[in-house]
Amino acid sequence: MGEFDLIRRYFTRPTPRAVLGVGDDCALLQSAPGMQMAISTDMLVSGRHFFPDVDPQTLGHKALAVNLSDLAACGARPLAFTLALALPAADEAWLESFSRGLLALADTHGCELIGGDTTRGPLNICITVFGEMPAGQALLRSGARPGDDIYVSGTLGDARLALDALTGQLALEPAALQRARARLELPSPRIALGQALRGIASAAADISDGLLGDLGHILEQSGVGATLQASATVSCLACTQPGLPEAVRMRSVLSGGDDYELVFCAAPTQRAAVLAASASSHTPVTRIGQIDAAAGLRVLDDDGHPLDSAYASFDHFA
Ligand code: ADP
Ligand code: MG
Repeated sequence: MGEFDLIRRYFTRPTPRAVLGVGDDCALLQSAPGMQMAISTDMLVSGRHFFPDVDPQTLGHKALAVNLSDLAACGARPLAFTLALALPAADEAWLESFSRGLLALADTHGCELIGGDTTRGPLNICITVFGEMPAGQALLRSGARPGDDIYVSGTLGDARLALDALTGQLALEPAALQRARARLELPSPRIALGQALRGIASAAADISDGLLGDLGHILEQSGVGATLQASATVSCLACTQPGLPEAVRMRSVLSGGDDYELVFCAAPTQRAAVLAASASSHTPVTRIGQIDAAAGLRVLDDDGHPLDSAYASFDHFA
């Protein structure tokens, strides 16, 4: 199978919303009046971002999901994406499965594959997504203000637990591992919540590198600090396997990574609006702390004492 057969067979689909999709030198997108485009790129490298033998269907899903998560963080509606793919070989079973996972998620979010590049090489997947929102309404990292509440969507930490279990660093019961592994391999980008938070959230980011790290980006770019309630964050861990050490739970939630949830801020006057956005997007959110004028990130226990532990003093936040 040649390069163009491969593109035609696995990556060429009708693109009713794009003016022109796969096949010419460029794809063409028409932006609507009064709208702004949101653009983001993420690359997944074999052996670094995924196990080389991972199920190709889940890999296709995840490659697009991590990109859609960036659109969610900005409150954008997905429009289209491009796919740059380096493949060691034109393995038809692999391509069939990869494209099925990729395009199923694309269809779920109405995001059209409009172009890309295909080359032989070590397995590498680079996707660029294009989304849109009304001009000036993007959720940015720079908008958090002292007094704002801090929220996270969904649950945190399970992807990290799965990774630790799969690399033999942690024992998880089979049912817990299955749930955690689904979070690692099949993340759900919070597209509906991101759009529902436009005009409500003051700042947002998606959690790819861990809650503390990604919240740290908001704090830095907004020129503020924050205090988190440890017990509120730890309740965000879905995995409830008894006997899981508290330190493992805390580390997974606070600095686990690969969650693809949203961390966002909103003024206390917006609490009802945040709950309404959560309900309308069918996405649970938890309030975990507040923004401070004083720089730095503090994690407090229920008695108000700073948590004296490795994860609280994780480098990014010092
Ligand atoms: P060019 O040589 O002009 O860069 P290519 O020969 O690389 O074009 O690609 C031909 C067409 O196929 C282009 O429209 C390109 O966007 C599309 N394409 C190439 N690879 C992919 C892919 N993996 N997924 C989707 N479209 C692709
Ligand atoms: Mg090319």
